[in-house]
Amino acid sequence: MSNKLIIAIDGPAGAGKSTVARIIAEIFGCEYIDTGAMYRAIAYKCVQRLVDIDDDDELNELLDETEVAFKDKKILLDGRPVENEIRTPKISSVVSKVAEKKAVREKLIEAQRKIGEEVSVVMDGRDIGTSVFPDAQFKFFVTASVDERADRRYKELIQKGYDASKIEIYTEIKKRDEYDTNRTLNPLRKAPDAILIDTTKRTINDVVDEICERIRRS
Ligand code: C5P
Repeated sequence: MSNKLIIAIDGPAGAGKSTVARIIAEIFGCEYIDTGAMYRAIAYKCVQRLVDIDDDDELNELLDETEVAFKDKKILLDGRPVENEIRTPKISSVVSKVAEKKAVREKLIEAQRKIGEEVSVVMDGRDIGTSVFPDAQFKFFVTASVDERADRRYKELIQKGYDASKIEIYTEIKKRDEYDTNRTLNPLRKAPDAILIDTTKRTINDVVDEICERIRRS
């Protein structure tokens, strides 16, 4: 068990976890670790290398020669920052299939636990409160309606200059929710002791205030 402060923020795609987690990390002087970006980085490398993820040997070989790390708030894949390339619709559509692989989860969970042993963190993902840090001091499960989550993703992608379709994003988010919730290993689930926060129709500031208040009060 880590003796550092661990604030776990889990929830489905597009619920506002990463924006909220980043602000909470600033406020409490912690590192912000976006574990979704770690899975995305591996998925991106698999796509680049045309790796057949159902071939264990191919996948293990790729994992053996892959390093995912964080430096200066940036995610590094084999020492190189990756950001926009891991957030494309293509990567969003394949990442859950990569993330359900045992070898992938073992590698990344080990890396996440190591970070949490070294520094205090706000870590967001799907299984932080249930599997990565079941003893985290604070656990939140942040969610919102599928409609609102799809709407936020759509606006975000348009703002970044992608040619997005609302209906495709809605379908993709629903599919990813189902995949992440129903997989065998570390499925997306609210830890029994996590505080549920529904961000539908709420502003980021409002949600941040509630989380800060709950942390300070305890
Ligand atoms: O958070 P984000 O939407 O970027 O995550 C991308 C995908 O990575 C998720 O849909 C899920 O399949 C996987 N993931 C996971 N466990 C985590 C974080 C993300 O399986 N802790």
